Amino acid sequence: MFVGVLDFCMRFHGRQLLPALSVMAIVLTIAFTLVYPETTWRITTLSVYQATLNFATAWVLFRHGDAFSRRAFLAAATVALLQGLSALAQAGLVSTSSLQFDYGAPQLPIANTISWAGSLLSAVVGNSILMLLIMLRLVAELSAAAERDVLTGLLNRRGMRKKFDDLLAPHYESKDTIGVLLLDIDEFKKINDRYGHEVGDQVIATFGRVLLEMDVSKTSVSRWGGEEFCVVAEATTSRSLIELAESIRLQFVLSTAALPGLPHGCTVSIGAAMNHSPATLDVQGLLARADAQLYLAKRKGRNRVMMAASDHGGKDLTAAVQP
Ligand code: GH3
Ligand code: MG
Ligand code: MG
Repeated sequence: MFVGVLDFCMRFHGRQLLPALSVMAIVLTIAFTLVYPETTWRITTLSVYQATLNFATAWVLFRHGDAFSRRAFLAAATVALLQGLSALAQAGLVSTSSLQFDYGAPQLPIANTISWAGSLLSAVVGNSILMLLIMLRLVAELSAAAERDVLTGLLNRRGMRKKFDDLLAPHYESKDTIGVLLLDIDEFKKINDRYGHEVGDQVIATFGRVLLEMDVSKTSVSRWGGEEFCVVAEATTSRSLIELAESIRLQFVLSTAALPGLPHGCTVSIGAAMNHSPATLDVQGLLARADAQLYLAKRKGRNRVMMAASDHGGKDLTAAVQP
């Protein structure tokens, strides 16, 4: 149980511990059966050993449980703790009793009852909770996978929609510091036609890496669909948003120029928009304004970042937005 829980909670492949722990139990049993045939010592030592493993199991479940099903992990940790306490109680009662035991402790029914209750708790409640934990993790992993794009590892449109839902929450303040970028790879159809879809996929994967490696905190990146991407930046300003877009644009050309057969690299057009109200977030409006700027960037010759003057207070950002 302890090794299984270690494996499950800490993703630590401690299977080599299993033979060591089993050997330890066998050695203790043999020592107190053949070498020193003393039933009181055997029950006490094995119960303390069992209790130690139960407490360690409870600690791992308590400290390293997944956040998504905290309560189930706490319940499992409590069961392991109770099991440990029952083993410890049995050890305490047997070791402090003046009775002589031949086999087991039939003369001390309270110790046996506590031990029996601990085993029943483990079999009925503990095992069910562990099964529940496995199922909950499976569900969490499946729903996380459903929100990811396979080619790039970025959030997909569904995952990004969920991100927008989080930002719409009333307790989320300063919504006017939220900015959006819509990014579309330029002339991508030509890349596919000229070099094949495999190279096209490599270009998309490269763009995914560029976005992932930006390493800007409070920024979520997604593949919005096809060769189009969406970035949401929190706690930003119009200037920082443009700078971010510019660094993505430049990095994308450099990264794709390193791909075989694409000496000049590929370019991307980017439309940027900032939310205006500190209290409300108009996701549709924000996306529509970013899309309009993206369209403008394409019309103006591609390979550039565009943001409406009303979004950056009419200040001159020409130096930043020109390719
Ligand atoms: P523009 O500069 O105006 O954006 O032109 P474009 O060629 O990039 O745009 P268009 O919408 O005409 O073509 C997009 C192409 O992207 C069409 C589609 O076949 C291709 N595409 C979409 N998803 C994938 C993908 O996952 N892999 C590959 N290889 N191609 C894809
Ligand atoms: Mg395109
Ligand atoms: Mg497109």
